[in-house]
Amino acid sequence: MHFINGEFVRSASGRTFDNVSPVDNRLIARVHEAGRPEVDAAVRSARAALDGPWGKLTVDARSKMLYAVADEINRRFDDFLQAEVADTGKPVSLASHLDIPRGAANFKVFADTVKNVSSEFFEMATPDGAGALNYAVRVPKGVIAVVCPWNLPLLLMTWKVGPALACGNTVVVKPSEETPSTATLLGEVMNAVGVPPGVYNVVHGFGPNSAGEFLTSHPGVNAITFTGETRTGAAILKAAADGIKATSMELGGKNPAIVFADCDMAQAIETTTRSVFANCGQVCLGTERVYVERPIFDEFVKRLGEAARSMKPGRPEDDATKIGPLISQEHRRKVLSYYEKARAEGATIVAGGGIPKMEGALAEGAWIEPTVWTGLPETSAIVQEEIFGPCCHVTPFDTEEEAIRLANDTPYGLAASVYTTNLSRAHRIGAKLNVGLCWINSWFLRDLRTPFGGSKQSGIGREGGVHSLEFYTELRNVCVKL
Ligand code: NAD
Repeated sequence: MHFINGEFVRSASGRTFDNVSPVDNRLIARVHEAGRPEVDAAVRSARAALDGPWGKLTVDARSKMLYAVADEINRRFDDFLQAEVADTGKPVSLASHLDIPRGAANFKVFADTVKNVSSEFFEMATPDGAGALNYAVRVPKGVIAVVCPWNLPLLLMTWKVGPALACGNTVVVKPSEETPSTATLLGEVMNAVGVPPGVYNVVHGFGPNSAGEFLTSHPGVNAITFTGETRTGAAILKAAADGIKATSMELGGKNPAIVFADCDMAQAIETTTRSVFANCGQVCLGTERVYVERPIFDEFVKRLGEAARSMKPGRPEDDATKIGPLISQEHRRKVLSYYEKARAEGATIVAGGGIPKMEGALAEGAWIEPTVWTGLPETSAIVQEEIFGPCCHVTPFDTEEEAIRLANDTPYGLAASVYTTNLSRAHRIGAKLNVGLCWINSWFLRDLRTPFGGSKQSGIGREGGVHSLEFYTELRNVCVKL
């Protein structure tokens, strides 16, 4: 159900859609689909809440409330875990270490951030000699539309809701139609800790001609923060143009890893295995292109192939499970179309390349084999387009310049990983890769105070730490003539 003005409500139209498990295709829930009336009610309640008790809270009181939200998520850890795992099919071992703890941490880190920022101040001279003082105050932007993807549902939603609320805004969240549960559950948390009605709202539905479009084109929305595909980002930017809404865009990627012959091989293999296959390859920061210096190319490919074959698929709650299914049958059709294209183009299939044989009810799930290819030209769609599955193409290189050129040869610019023990080279390359995030000898190592976002078609703007405040607040200059 939707969560509007502190209450769980159905759609007036009675329209619902099915939420099915990607593990075995069983029905989890029927979800109410918001039409314009529900989106309108959510935006109106968010607007009204800005003028209510929420808008009058001190920063300290607001921060305490967000700490309480985080504590309540942790108290209900198992409920969130179960909901996230049911929607996504991801292994419990992953969701319990990443999704749910980060979901809670996102509230604490931004509650701390807002308490610790200073504002700018300029003293200026005036012709009469008395002077003037300028200082900037941060005010909330207003009603923020939060449109989220399905790959890390709670984590990515709270990454936006945390700072938005910390800055004093109110939000209307549109979770992905694939993963409606944890955003809904968060409504219960908000009520339990006394967040006033209307501050946090959730409307369910799809994108075009549904809740997503109704929300992002709503005149009552002041700003839109979006995470998802680049193509969807472009559609939302068009909607944002009417009404001149501020936007933050965290979009797709085709992220490279560059592996030099002087790397710590075990570390490079272990980390690349994670960056390619974690969350069944459905991580925006995940690696889909690997460039390996020629002397270690064969050895690296052999070991990455072995790692791919060792990723055991299975039920999320099974300790032995190393990889879950893709999010849906529809997404599997898309990923499989790339698997078929790679085969047709004559790729060498080092590992995987198809659908694993699953037993019993699991045979109905959206399972797919972790896959490693070599041998395709850089112009191939496999090397150019975001697949968003557990797969990568590995290409050899001979010089540092060539590796940089290949890594940068993409319309995307989200993340990169570089493996080398040569410190000078690491720094040199870090500055030359055209990405928002560059990891050296690591991947997905996140300090939430640091800037996060993409270059080129991977996004607009940066969130994280004080950078989130730039988006979720308006700076107002006050000039006082003395
Ligand atoms: P998606 O773009 O299909 O959907 C994202 C959200 O947008 C969903 O809630 C969807 O209902 C909504 N939507 C779709 N069309 C819309 C429209 N016209 N108007 C308004 N809303 C609309 O993305 P997805 O498939 O859910 O997620 C996977 C994508 O997200 C990948 O491309 C991945 O790289 C990207 N992603 C990026 C980051 C990042 O931080 N840069 C993080 C995670 C995922």
